[in-house]
Amino acid sequence: MNVRYLARSDILALKPYQSARKLTYSGNIWLDANEFPIAPNYQFRYKKMHRYPSCQPQEIINNYADYAGVRSDQILVSRGADESIELLMKVFCNPGKDVIIFCPPTYGMYKTTAEILGINYRIILKKKNWQLDLTSIESQLNNVKLIYICNPNNPTGNIIHVNSLKKLLDIIQDKAILVTDEAYVDFCPNASLVRWLSIYPHLVILRTLSKAFALAGLRCGFTLANPEIIKLLEKVIAPYPLSIPVIDIAEQALTPKNIQYTLNRIDTINKNRNILITGLQQCSCVQKVFDSNANYVLVRFHPKYQIFNTLLRQGIILRDQSSQPGLMHCLRITVGTYNECKHVISILRKLHTPSLSAYINRSTHES
Ligand SMILES: *Cc1c(COP(=O)(O)O)cnc(C)c1O
Repeated sequence: MNVRYLARSDILALKPYQSARKLTYSGNIWLDANEFPIAPNYQFRYKKMHRYPSCQPQEIINNYADYAGVRSDQILVSRGADESIELLMKVFCNPGKDVIIFCPPTYGMYKTTAEILGINYRIILKKKNWQLDLTSIESQLNNVKLIYICNPNNPTGNIIHVNSLKKLLDIIQDKAILVTDEAYVDFCPNASLVRWLSIYPHLVILRTLSKAFALAGLRCGFTLANPEIIKLLEKVIAPYPLSIPVIDIAEQALTPKNIQYTLNRIDTINKNRNILITGLQQCSCVQKVFDSNANYVLVRFHPKYQIFNTLLRQGIILRDQSSQPGLMHCLRITVGTYNECKHVISILRKLHTPSLSAYINRSTHES
């Protein structure tokens, strides 16, 4: 018996999300998943695990509320922001009927999660400047329940104009919910919409400890929203979403002292990013460096250099974004340590003109 027969046909056809850690490369400098380059030093304190953990550990909630500037009843904690993306669809979307919107180029999990849950989606591309196409969105709101907007956007690094988010909230009032994915907002806190939570009941914000807090391996994220939405999410979340070791480390990461360490870490990464951008702009293999407000930089390279493989051979792993709309020849580089940034730049600078002029001569003939 072929048991594949029993599976849902849409799951058989599903192209699973290609997480950075599923693509296996051998390398020693990992700049592909927007992780923090150095492990923070937390130790396990809780030794006993014979009891189930609390579903929503209060200390984590209270401390994250202080950090984010919201009330405790406006927070849900979950197994990463990815779980939150899914919980929202479970609460608000009838499979096969309701629709979510997302706006490529952007993070891939909105689409994959919708596909897995059998929820319809509508793709509304960003404009050339990677801002929202509000006219298109407004004209395609039938059956839409959730609109996922990544801000700052992964992988482009830009911030969505605050006025267009305000307009979007007005357009969709009484119809749909705006979910802003703020996984990287710790690197540019002024871009957060957190102050609007008390004004707009249909605004939801996603946060995570995976990026600026340097805890991608922990799997801990947050949903910020009005208490009505939080209560609905609590109905569908697993009974024990966080394991005791996760709770233990997350509590430590959110003490005032360790939050200060995180703020220092953010400073360092932002400085390294600017060094990386300046260095990249001086490389002849680079066609364009896009400005970034997060811990990664999107770069369009001259295709002939095959930068992805060239760096891979030197043990440096980047993330290929070239299959996203408008991102031909683009790679995303996570901002690592100062030395990692310098190392990448020095390798790229060595790839210069002889092969470039050969390429230019050849490509003029080809085209
Ligand atoms: C990394 C990332 C996430 C996932 O965060 P986790 O908390 O690790 O699940 C969500 N959204 C975006 C845009 C991300 O880049």
